[in-house]
Amino acid sequence: MFNTEVTDIRSRDGRVVGVTVKGGKEIDAPVVINAAGPHSFLINAMAEGVVEGMNIKTKALRHEVHHVPSPEGFDFLKNGYHTSDGDNSIYFRPEVGNMILVGSEDPECDPQEWTEDPDNFNRNITDGQYKAQIYRLARRIPSLGIPNKQLGVADLYDCSTDWIPIYDKSDLKGYYMSIGTSGNQYKTAPVVGILMAELIDYCEKGNDHDKDPLQLFLKNTGISIDVGFFSRKREINEDSSFSVNG
Ligand SMILES: Cc1cc2nc3c(=O)[nH]c(=O)nc-3n(C[C@H](O)[C@H](O)[C@H](O)COP(=O)(O)OP(=O)(O)OC[C@H]3O[C@@H](n4cnc5c(N)ncnc54)[C@H](O)[C@@H]3O)c2cc1C
Repeated sequence: MFNTEVTDIRSRDGRVVGVTVKGGKEIDAPVVINAAGPHSFLINAMAEGVVEGMNIKTKALRHEVHHVPSPEGFDFLKNGYHTSDGDNSIYFRPEVGNMILVGSEDPECDPQEWTEDPDNFNRNITDGQYKAQIYRLARRIPSLGIPNKQLGVADLYDCSTDWIPIYDKSDLKGYYMSIGTSGNQYKTAPVVGILMAELIDYCEKGNDHDKDPLQLFLKNTGISIDVGFFSRKREINEDSSFSVNG
């Protein structure tokens, strides 16, 4: 249902029973999944006992990415690669229109703008961050032109405490979370869909995912992953980059 805002998560006797949407209409469901992106922390706050049961939390962090034309004579869209450039604290990748998209890897000198209100933030890119990111890119690609017209996008990451997603059940039976994507999980969406379906099936059949985590078999690679890695109750993963690299 497009343009329909969830305003409450209803539960009874420790189990989710459905959602309420703006205007008061109630939709009953045996299973509810929080996949609300940067609004995930607001949705969790509506669900009884969920936040209290989480060691890893989510918050909304404003971020800018900028678009700049590929250097003359090079088809970056066709021949460019996604590149993580830790020395300059940027990543860049091909973007439509033979553009290069450049984003920040959150060095300490970049201010972090956390927002309490994900419906109300500055959606315009800023001159300071544009110049920081494009000049960093120009250090890596010296033939890059610096356009006068500044292009880019400003939006919110749904950032988890350790920049690794939460794909998990919760302390409220029937309520699941697919959140904390931390600016880096668009590309994983198809496999995360499978992960969540398998996880919900596993838990709803009575298995205790907290004590005995689901092992997910990935049919294309032939390996299994321990879904407990994405637990809401995990200790902060100190091996994380604590950046968009996850
Ligand atoms: C600037 C920027 C650049 C990025 N670049 C990359 C990249 O290069 N590669 C990559 O892999 N990932 C990237 N990401 C991350 C990627 O966009 C996210 O991981 C992905 O969009 C998460 O998808 P989602 O469906 O979980 O959440 P979202 O796409 O955020 O969707 C959440 C939906 O929930 C809805 N919602 C929220 N609250 C309510 C409510 N109360 N009731 C009803 N609906 C509600 C929202 O309206 C929205 O439609 C980037 C993110 C940003 C901000």
